Amino acid sequence: MSFLVEQEEFRTIEVESLGDVAAPDQDQHALGDARPVIKPVHPVEKSFDTPADSNKAMTQIRSVVGQLRTALPELSLVSIGVSVPGPTDAGRRKLLLAPHLGWRDVPVADALIENDPGSHNSGKGVTVIVENDAIAAAIYEARRLLRAPTTGAEDNFILVRAGTGIGVGLVLGGEVYRGSGTDRGLLGEFGHMTIVAGGDPCACGNRGCWEVYASAAGAASIYLGSGASARGRTPPRFIEIVARAGEGELRAQTTLARIGENLGIGISNVITGLGVSRVVISGRIVHGWMFIRKSLEEAVAQTMAGRLSNWSIEPGQPTGAGLGGAVEVAIDHYLTELARSMRAAA
Ligand SMILES: [Zn+2]
Repeated sequence: MSFLVEQEEFRTIEVESLGDVAAPDQDQHALGDARPVIKPVHPVEKSFDTPADSNKAMTQIRSVVGQLRTALPELSLVSIGVSVPGPTDAGRRKLLLAPHLGWRDVPVADALIENDPGSHNSGKGVTVIVENDAIAAAIYEARRLLRAPTTGAEDNFILVRAGTGIGVGLVLGGEVYRGSGTDRGLLGEFGHMTIVAGGDPCACGNRGCWEVYASAAGAASIYLGSGASARGRTPPRFIEIVARAGEGELRAQTTLARIGENLGIGISNVITGLGVSRVVISGRIVHGWMFIRKSLEEAVAQTMAGRLSNWSIEPGQPTGAGLGGAVEVAIDHYLTELARSMRAAA
């Protein structure tokens, strides 16, 4: 079972069952030849608006967990993966900070398995893994690329997830890098690196952050502009800006070109900082890829000129990677624990 917590796309819930089918199939959630094939159970997907209050949000998820367990009595729940829009603690139990939701130190895992032994909703024996959505998306894309027949050889890449904000995941040798030590909560927080000194305010409290200028949410501000006419107007959703660009509207096309340029400037910094030259873009921003690509590539080429000429940037999945990654994370944890208990019993 997995959850995606995001400001604009809200929460989706997906239940999957661990099958014992030997042959790998086309199922996007399969983990590879040597592992059990994961069979999605349909139709059990639900979504609802994210409440502003994190306690209310957790109560609502808990209630949905209960409903799904009641609806699927033949399956036993072993693991829940939660994809959250921000860094987690080292134990992957807490969401440390989600500026756009205004949440800080939310004990997601504890909230979801609150002990209530008398209830059918009791979390006894269920593990909850809370994963940063950029890392979850990186895991998902790494598995997807690994399974693709044409691209399997390359297993180092940077994942840039741009939606409401921007998060960065790093995959080295086919495995996602999680950082180490007490500062791992800072891993991937490139969305808050300053690219415009004294620039526009960001939800994090800083000014001029990359995600203000290059995220899907940032596109709405660029589209509206800063003049008096922009005040009081409802910002368009990113998908609407893309649709208008597709209809030939110049303002929408210029907005997306600006997003591409800003995304490219930040990506060049990330490539330089991490020393990995393959980049996969994920999240809502991918919907606008055909209008973003050219200015993005030009910005990277210009910024990297004289340093690196061999780099690649490709679009990944616009939706589903965060949720798919949360599923993979939950299953990974379950299989690891299973293997450990089998070794202990042997
Ligand atoms: Zn910021």
